[in-house]
Amino acid sequence: MHHQKIKIMGVSFDKVTLDQAYEKVLEFLGEDKTHIVVTPNSEIVMAAQDDKELLGILNEADMVVADGIGVVLASRFYGKPLPERVAGFDLMTKILEKAPEKGHTIFLLGGKPGIVLKAAEKMKNKYPGLKIAGFHHGYFDALEEKNILKEINSAEPDFLFVAMGAPKQEKWIYSNKDIINARVCMGVGGSLDVYAGITKRAPAVFRKLGLEWFYRLIKEPRRIRRMMALPRFAVRVLFFKE
Ligand code: UDP
Repeated sequence: MHHQKIKIMGVSFDKVTLDQAYEKVLEFLGEDKTHIVVTPNSEIVMAAQDDKELLGILNEADMVVADGIGVVLASRFYGKPLPERVAGFDLMTKILEKAPEKGHTIFLLGGKPGIVLKAAEKMKNKYPGLKIAGFHHGYFDALEEKNILKEINSAEPDFLFVAMGAPKQEKWIYSNKDIINARVCMGVGGSLDVYAGITKRAPAVFRKLGLEWFYRLIKEPRRIRRMMALPRFAVRVLFFKE
């Protein structure tokens, strides 16, 4: 099924709900090529204003979902509303939840050495029958990278989740897309830290109110510099109508 696209500051988002995004991912599994899913928030949309390489990567992706309330609010302000926020973490969770019954396999790449192992174990506990085809931490050099790519390709996973922070993970996926043998690749930021239990997602009430960013700021004040992109994003939305 073809979904409508909505452009926010040069980034074309797919007008999809979480469920529709998952349906689209299932379609990708049926096509014999490596697909890329990106989940930009307003920080990344702002970064893409100055980084044309990143902008190109986002717009070439097979699916672009809005992982941030800022992007959803901007879409409403422009009068072309996105149906809801589709957090990368939630899409990944949906994929993991359904994977055992559907027989989908997963490869995890990213996070600190002990963390990715812990995340894999917790996922297998939470979703019995889940097939983790392989995993590797996200701190590697060029030589190790070759071996990691070999590991991924011999596992031929349905899903490759890359958790190295945005936009590093998106750039890594893009630059290797022609040699990666995985049906769907998606950057998932700090999600493995959440699965491993070393960071927490905001409580549901924060998420419902669109205040997950605020919760993260309180928990990790070092994010303040990165988060200054949010007010800059808001000002740009208000004054630079598209
Ligand atoms: N990370 C990594 N390799 C790197 C840099 C970071 O695997 O070279 C991991 C890091 O351990 C953490 C994640 O990437 O698990 C970044 O999380 P963060 O919350 O900063 O990402 P965001 O969700 O904000 O993009």
